[in-house]
Amino acid sequence: MMQIFTHLCWICSGELRSETIICKTCLMKVLPDSKTCSLCGESVDRCFKCTVYPPPWLRFCWIYKYNDHFKPVVNQFKQYGNLGLLNCLTEQLLEQLSLLDIDVVTFVPSSPFTWLRNGYSPAKKIASRIAKRLKIPAIPLLKRRIFSQKKNVSLQARVNTRWFTLSDNKRVYSEVSGKSILLVDDIAVSNSSLEECGKLLGKYSKTLFVATIAKKQKED
Ligand SMILES: [Zn+2]
Ligand SMILES: [Zn+2]
Repeated sequence: MMQIFTHLCWICSGELRSETIICKTCLMKVLPDSKTCSLCGESVDRCFKCTVYPPPWLRFCWIYKYNDHFKPVVNQFKQYGNLGLLNCLTEQLLEQLSLLDIDVVTFVPSSPFTWLRNGYSPAKKIASRIAKRLKIPAIPLLKRRIFSQKKNVSLQARVNTRWFTLSDNKRVYSEVSGKSILLVDDIAVSNSSLEECGKLLGKYSKTLFVATIAKKQKED
């Protein structure tokens, strides 16, 4: 096991027994319940929203609820750059992904702010590790669009803004056409980035899956 791990829970600092990073008591607070929509990640028995407006993917894999209990764990890799912990979380995500048929891994591009703060992109790190473990390529298929700083942009304009674009259309087409793609991000809050990127990739891919370490549910 990785050296950096103490035998203490990353949430409550209590002693760990057989668990890897989060103790049994804390797990109860951060694991999704059994009735969770496999498409959007909300805690619902039958998801009306996904029946009427299905997202562009077939399955959404995630491990922990992004709530106040889990935020200190996220801060460890988002603010303090704890790569060992991020790798450990990615290994847990891989347990779900090994059941899926995936050809290519890609990721939601981080904002320049995230790059500057961390010196790395968590989403890219997760994608690279998944690709390595599944012995498939990790390809940066998407990029962020650059906007000039405009003041007084209305909320509606922000909602309608397209933040992402395909990194290079020809390359994307040849690399992913007819293939099964996994789109990765570190955290999903509203799913809006995943949806925007998913729609771009969905035009080319045969099948699309998405995966994040944590997902914010509406009631959290
Ligand atoms: Zn704990
Ligand atoms: Zn749903």
